[in-house]
Amino acid sequence: MASYDVAIVGGGVVGSATAYYLKKLGYTGSVAIIERDTSWQSGCTARSCGGLRQQFSTPENIALSKFGVTVVKNLKEEFGPEADAAFREQGYLILATASGMPVLEENHAVQIAHGAHNVLLKGDALAARFPWLNADGLAGGCFGLSGEGWVDPYSLAALFRKAAMARGVALIQGEVAGLRRDGARISGLDLASGESLICGTLVNAAGTGAGRLAALAGIALPVGPRKRYVYVLDCPAATEALHKAPLTVEPGGVYFRPEGRNFICGLSPEEHEEPEVFDWEVDYAWFEERIWGRLAERVPLFEAVKVISAWTGHYDYNALDQNAVIGPHPEIANFLFANGYSGHGLQQGPASGNAIAELILHGGYRTIDLTRFGYERILNNAPLFEKNVI
Ligand SMILES: Cc1cc2nc3c(=O)[nH]c(=O)nc-3n(C[C@H](O)[C@H](O)[C@H](O)COP(=O)(O)OP(=O)(O)OC[C@H]3O[C@@H](n4cnc5c(N)ncnc54)[C@H](O)[C@@H]3O)c2cc1C
Repeated sequence: MASYDVAIVGGGVVGSATAYYLKKLGYTGSVAIIERDTSWQSGCTARSCGGLRQQFSTPENIALSKFGVTVVKNLKEEFGPEADAAFREQGYLILATASGMPVLEENHAVQIAHGAHNVLLKGDALAARFPWLNADGLAGGCFGLSGEGWVDPYSLAALFRKAAMARGVALIQGEVAGLRRDGARISGLDLASGESLICGTLVNAAGTGAGRLAALAGIALPVGPRKRYVYVLDCPAATEALHKAPLTVEPGGVYFRPEGRNFICGLSPEEHEEPEVFDWEVDYAWFEERIWGRLAERVPLFEAVKVISAWTGHYDYNALDQNAVIGPHPEIANFLFANGYSGHGLQQGPASGNAIAELILHGGYRTIDLTRFGYERILNNAPLFEKNVI
């Protein structure tokens, strides 16, 4: 039976970054990524919008994303002269009406205290800076001056994966269908093909499959798929200023950003509206009924748009508090979680991979203290809510 010191279930951005940083930080043991879909099409990573922001309400999220931005800005130093993930540093703009302004101001203060580079714009300053914006009814907006924007998510994850494999990490195609638990440790895993592997440490980087994977060891983890739609718009009237727009989120939660010469947009449903099915069908009525009106109200140039394509993706959603669960299980110390990013895991993948590598190598965090993101809060039903889930 094959044996690995570290087995990582899931080869998206989180699993790939974990493998990469293990090797980069000097881990000499054997490492394997076990991935069921090596076309990479069904995971969250390739279906992400690739956004990186510092506009969070939880300090750990700001730190995780700042790490990600540093990586993205230094890809050539990290991965070589050809490395590119098409980073567009156009910022985020989160808008608020009067009722939302106290929360925006509170979050802004947390962000500035933790090194984010953004500015609160109020009244005329908002419309002056963004001439395409209808600021009627808005009290203000928080705009990222640097370190925010978007990347091509597939390229970013592929850079980590290829660099990890170049350093000796094995990629095993297969679906983990069983976990072997030997008292207070995981001793191995069984693949759907019938093969089995022995492992010293198991990392759960299974994205939307994280809850199901944990359940194979009898562990409750409230992480599962939440269906989301992203629509691609052609807007013939768009000005150059609109093409340079930040990723903009209007007070109702509708977001848009430029994508090449087009735009992408979406809206997360309320809890009671969540579609239940785990399929890939796009609901075009969701755009017509819930998005377009709000988009055109804020950006009148979007009155005339055409949906030229769309895709479905699934958030790796932590139903407890929409924050990641990172770290070991308190009783099964060789089972580590890196799950539940709830729509912000692409930007937090690099830092999460580094954090898990530090835990394996050093038994503790060296770069970002993620103790509060540990599994204990699931056990204790003690949520640590992130307010800025887009
Ligand atoms: C529409 C959409 C937009 C998003 N926009 C953003 C954004 O703008 N910014 C941002 O930061 N994040 C965004 N996200 C979230 C982000 O994409 C995810 O949080 C992140 O990609 C999670 O990475 P991961 O490696 O944990 O998961 P994944 O990429 O899903 O990787 C997990 C892998 O595990 C594999 N797997 C699962 N179970 C098993 C098993 N039992 N055996 C073997 N393999 C298994 C899966 O096949 C998958 O490839 C978005 C997500 C969606 C869906």
